[in-house]
Amino acid sequence: MAEYLFGKEVADKITEQLQDEVDILRAKGIIPKLEIIRLGENPEDLAYERGAINRMKRCSISVAITQLPREISHKDFMEKFYKINDNSHVHGILLLKPLPSQIIEKEVNNAINPIKDIDGMHPLNMAKIMAGDDTGMIPCTPKAVLSMLDYYNINLEGKKVVIVGRSLVFGKPASMLCLNKNATVTVCHSRTKNLQEECAAADILIVAIGKSKMITADYVKDGAVVIDVGINVDEEGNLCGDVETESVYDKCSAITPVPKGVGSVTTTMLAEQVIKGAKIINKLI
Ligand code: NDP
Repeated sequence: MAEYLFGKEVADKITEQLQDEVDILRAKGIIPKLEIIRLGENPEDLAYERGAINRMKRCSISVAITQLPREISHKDFMEKFYKINDNSHVHGILLLKPLPSQIIEKEVNNAINPIKDIDGMHPLNMAKIMAGDDTGMIPCTPKAVLSMLDYYNINLEGKKVVIVGRSLVFGKPASMLCLNKNATVTVCHSRTKNLQEECAAADILIVAIGKSKMITADYVKDGAVVIDVGINVDEEGNLCGDVETESVYDKCSAITPVPKGVGSVTTTMLAEQVIKGAKIINKLI
């Protein structure tokens, strides 16, 4: 019988630790604060924002929301962005994405104060991941996956990890984090030849492609650990991952469900990074 790796218990345990850290900061007069920047009213952004607000509340982190029109010019956006970036009471900035096409994302990533860059998109934070330097900000979803593996005592050392997906938000940083844990890492993408063969060689298969239930049992080695990062909607309108959980469950040793898997831990990582930002800004670490 495979084990389901549920995210909630991981998130709850980390939240408890974060609450204690916030209590210590508040006793020193420091109130960790997250600023969410949203362009327009995209339902997915609103859903993510609600999840983030709930998690911050549970950790006693203060939240402010800046809503801007989706059609705002790049210049006007940057003006507003710099004001938030320069506000010393803000310790973390969450810019909801995807951004509209007129906003030059690279410029925003270069402009953000690396300490407030809780999504880990500033080049300095990326370089720190490459260098195995954990003083930087790490993108929340790869960080959530590593936290889940750690919580469930799944050791990466010497394991063959296959990551499907090479995005900047997930696949690339996840590959470096696994490498830093001494795994042997293969990164696959849409041009990978023999994807099925590559995946079926994995001790730990991590999938983040955005294709409903694409990874079936044929892609999975007997007894592998399967981490499903995908969040999609199936033909019946239900949330599902990139992995066909029902068929893979009988073959693997452990699998993250969707929903209730990785996604539940991601917002907790946001909270962790805001607190880290507050500590760095106040020279406590
Ligand atoms: P992107 O669209 O940025 O990247 C998708 C990656 O998958 C690309 O590298 C792409 O390859 C690869 N890919 C696409 N189709 C195939 C295929 N048929 N075979 C092999 N590789 C393929 O997506 P994200 O990384 O942003 O997100 C991936 C998934 O994770 C989505 O479902 C998203 O909703 C989910 N997600 C979940 C989060 C959570 O908290 N659980 C947070 C963030 C994302 P190529 O580079 O060649 O195009």
